[in-house]
Order: sequence, then C-alpha cells, then structure tokens
Amino acid sequence: MAEAQPNKRRGGHAYGRRHMQMSNTAEEGELCIYSGHSLGRFSSHSMRFDSHQACVRCVSSAREGMLSFDIDRLLKKYRSKALKFWSQVDIGQPDECWNWEGVVNPRTKQPQFAWRRPGISTSTQHHPQRVAMWFTWGDLGFTGVKTTCGNKYCCNPFHLIPQHVGVFVDQDSYMESFELACQLHTLKQQVAEYVIEEAIKEEQKRDETAEIEARAALLMNPDTLFGDRFEAVMTDMLAGKHISQTEPEDPGLFRAPTDNEENDENPTNEF
Ligand SMILES: [Zn+2]
Ligand SMILES: [Zn+2]
Repeated sequence: MAEAQPNKRRGGHAYGRRHMQMSNTAEEGELCIYSGHSLGRFSSHSMRFDSHQACVRCVSSAREGMLSFDIDRLLKKYRSKALKFWSQVDIGQPDECWNWEGVVNPRTKQPQFAWRRPGISTSTQHHPQRVAMWFTWGDLGFTGVKTTCGNKYCCNPFHLIPQHVGVFVDQDSYMESFELACQLHTLKQQVAEYVIEEAIKEEQKRDETAEIEARAALLMNPDTLFGDRFEAVMTDMLAGKHISQTEPEDPGLFRAPTDNEENDENPTNEF
C-alpha cells in the first residue's frame, strides 16, 4: 500500500509517526466518528492528540480497556461504512482469527479498505486492522496497531492492540463479557441484513439495465411500427425517464433523488 503523504501538521509523515509516543497535548481536530465526542453539541470538531490525531475521548476509553461492537455508537453517517467494512471480514468466534476477505492490493499483497479521512490521513486506503481498531477500540487516528496472533489479515479486535496509547487489555474479561457477546451477535445480524439489502440494490440496478436495453432495442429497430415507437416514447416521457429528460451523470438513465445525507467526503458537515 502506498504510504500516506505528509499532512499539513508538523512532524511530517502520518504513518511514519505511528511508532511515536502519544503526545500529551491535544488540539481541535477532525470530528470523531463516534457520537458525543464533538467539542459541543453543534461543533464539528473533536479534541485530538496532536501526535497521532487520536480522539482524546476515544483514547481514554481505550486506556480503560473498553472496546465495543455497537455500531449505533457511531455517528449515523458512519454506520453503513462500518457495515460495509464488517461485511468483508469473516467474523468468527471471539478467540479465532477473523480474516479479511475484501480487497488485497495485487502489487503489495497488503489488504486494504477504501475510506477518505481528511485531516487524519491523506491516504485513501487503510489497513483493515486499523479500520477494525477505529470501529471497536475508538477513533485513534493513525495510532499503530499490532496483532497478538501475527496474522496480517486478522481483523479480530481481540487480537489487535493499539500501540502507544497505554491500553489496558484484559482478554479473560472480554471472553466472559455478556455485553460484548450481545453486541457481537447484533453486529453479525446487522451485517447479514446489510449484505441482503446491498444484493437487492444490485439486483434492481441490473433490472433497470435490462429495461433500458429492451427499450433501446425497440426504438432502434427499423421494423418497429410508428404506433409502438410513439407509445414507448410517450410512456417514457410521462414517467420522466425518456433519454431527453436524463442527465449525463445519471448512471442508469433513471432519475434518482440525490442523497445528501451520506457525505463521506466531508465529515465536518454533520450539523
Ligand atoms: Zn472519539
Ligand atoms: Zn488473529
């Protein structure tokens, strides 16, 4: 995976600094992906340690050894991102390795997950272990993460230890935690539902393509009678999906309302 470019902050290279000790000074930074971690209710900033851009509140819960699978703790706009991520992980038993089943860079053989996180890193691809850390241990910026199992494809947060945070890890209590077991069960259900919903969306897209192709074939065929042609055009126009009513960027030639709710590019637009 290409290393991140240095960001504007002093100290240089983002990922190059992951081995550094966490600083004890914090500054106003990008909004944390967890709800309730902004500076104030209407603020679009969170306090982050200036060395690693780790959210101060996430660091303190990680230091207490807290981790969570509850995606409802995330800001609404990151929940589908989390589901997308977990749908590519083979979530097994808490003591097993959970292997990454998503994209592996063909050149570097490194597993990767696409996510634009301006202010945290200029890289658009992240190691799934770091992403798994963000979604369980907290939004710890580019804090390093090490595995206890040595498996570079493993995304089981029980095998991932954030580095230089002073994290307290109590494996026995995690394995016995009823709350974590419930959260994990819920997450698996949510991922299963997400996978089905995505499959339905894909199917609908394919259906539309078939419909468009059938319509094009009818109109392009010189043997089509004028009456049929006229009817097809009028039907499309009344439904607002005639070729002259579509916009060039529309992928399926069908108008769809623009969803402004999900804006991954600009996480500061939350409020
Ligand atoms: Zn946070
Ligand atoms: Zn593992």
